[in-house]
Amino acid sequence: MLNIDGSQGEGGGQVLRSALSLSMVTGQGFRIARIRAGRKKPGLMRQHLTAVGAATALCGATVSGDAIGSTELTFSPGKVEAGEHTFSVGTAGSTTLVLQTVLPALLTAGAPSRLTLEGGTHNPFAPPFDFLAKTFLPLVNRMGPRVEATLERAGFYPAGGGRFTVEVTPAAQLSGIELLERGEIMRRSVRGIVSNLPRGIAERELKAVRKKLSWPDECFEVVELRDGHGPGNVVMIEIESEQVCEVFTGFGEVNRPAEAVANHATQQAQRYLRCGAPVGEYLADQLLLPLALAGAGAFETVRLSRHTRTHIDLIGRFCDVSIQTDDHGRDGATVRLG
Ligand code: AMP
Repeated sequence: MLNIDGSQGEGGGQVLRSALSLSMVTGQGFRIARIRAGRKKPGLMRQHLTAVGAATALCGATVSGDAIGSTELTFSPGKVEAGEHTFSVGTAGSTTLVLQTVLPALLTAGAPSRLTLEGGTHNPFAPPFDFLAKTFLPLVNRMGPRVEATLERAGFYPAGGGRFTVEVTPAAQLSGIELLERGEIMRRSVRGIVSNLPRGIAERELKAVRKKLSWPDECFEVVELRDGHGPGNVVMIEIESEQVCEVFTGFGEVNRPAEAVANHATQQAQRYLRCGAPVGEYLADQLLLPLALAGAGAFETVRLSRHTRTHIDLIGRFCDVSIQTDDHGRDGATVRLG
């Protein structure tokens, strides 16, 4: 059984979630201590517990320490069983992170799966549904499997109540991909999305983005959602190039001016455009796991984040794959697996 220090590097939920994913795929059990020691409220929160429960259900694992607030957990995986499953976070906790925990094991399982996930779909500090569907999954699909996600209802923090489904057609094995150049930019869009909030918020956000990115009018759109459980607001900037569609998000919050929300997303998009690398900072840490399972691949990213560095160390504990990084400072970094 591997001993994992949950406080290592970035010290967040990703250490736990990825350990679960890697354990399911490799069959290697693990014991993790000091879970999320780097966070304000350490230990397992509802979203992490749902991820543990989902992983346990999918592979009949033997688990101990799976309780809210727990800072230690042991996980001994069994055989992965594809099929139909529903996982509910029960709060507005991120459903996309729960999906990313169990997805790797289903990509090469012996049969297709259909998952339903309920909870938050657009959470700060997590991939929003749009990033999952437009950025992450199309790249996973280029590695062999077929994964399709459909949003049924958006769920924003703190009300939650979102829901999406995912159909997974596995591949016999994953093949590596290379994302070293971005190629031509084919499409750009900015959406100000409001759920049960005044349209004026999204209009102010779009105005603020337009001031910084002088893109044509047809790139900007206000989207008003009416079926959500609570109030919610995000700004999403999409940049689709030949190789990848990157999605940059600003999350609306109480007492946070619309202009600040817009600027957060705009700054990420500007940095991405300046650097020229195809892979943004968030995608970089998320892409590592499927590439490690493929055993090969390479990408150029805007920055080696702490999440990325921590993830590289963790993957090295479970997989016999070499991951080399070459940091070019402001010009980004190359990551090569093989
Ligand atoms: P952790 O903080 O350890 O729970 O991990 C958070 C995960 O969410 C990381 O894989 C990040 O790359 C991802 N993430 C956070 N914010 C965003 C965002 N705005 N867009 C896409 N992914 C994100």
